[in-house]
Amino acid sequence: MKKKVLLLGAPGSGKGTQAKYLSSEFGYIHVSMGDLLRAEVEQKTTLGLEAKSYMDHGALVPDIVVNNMVVKKLSELSDVSYLLDGFPRTIPQAEFIAEKGVQFDKVIYFSIALETVLDRMAGRLTCKACGASFHAKYNQPKKDMICDLCGEKLVIRDDDKPETVKRRFETYLSSTQPLLDFYKKQDLVAEIDAEQPIESIQSQVKAQLE
Ligand code: AMP
Repeated sequence: MKKKVLLLGAPGSGKGTQAKYLSSEFGYIHVSMGDLLRAEVEQKTTLGLEAKSYMDHGALVPDIVVNNMVVKKLSELSDVSYLLDGFPRTIPQAEFIAEKGVQFDKVIYFSIALETVLDRMAGRLTCKACGASFHAKYNQPKKDMICDLCGEKLVIRDDDKPETVKRRFETYLSSTQPLLDFYKKQDLVAEIDAEQPIESIQSQVKAQLE
């Protein structure tokens, strides 16, 4: 059966890393709103230029922009299992997607403390080409500054600076955390302690999706 899964959690909680694992092991299509937006920024499209100013400040890009993007993307994915990572991020976005007929089968919530997020993001290395992330200390790439998955160069994201990370975390608490109750009411949430080592998280995430 085709599954629709939402990965919910603060920036730096490891959603992206788990999404890469699930897509390579089980064939889920990984839809990362952050990656879609960064691709627009990279290509300097009108949408990308508008989004960049919000992203650089750790703020959310307006709903109207991301809602249109997600509708376009999901229309290409009617017959596959997919993971949404980074959308919805607000209650209005969640209501919007429900109105569009998207009903999640599972919401995986990665819980984590701000101190851990700050520590992780301080050394985060990201692949611009495929979106994979590594860590200078906790999840080193096999070759220095080269992506294990696609061989491209790794970079430090513009919005991974400590001040911006703090603001992104605050934005998460005020706008995104309320989604937890929203989906708990629908009995969809599986909570995972995102402070554990990557491998233990992997096996718990896997168990939730079996
Ligand atoms: P991420 O890679 O998921 O941490 O996203 C990076 C940035 O993209 C966020 O800090 C926001 O500025 C923007 N962004 C990603 N997803 C959304 C969304 N659903 N709604 C609004 N802004 C978003």
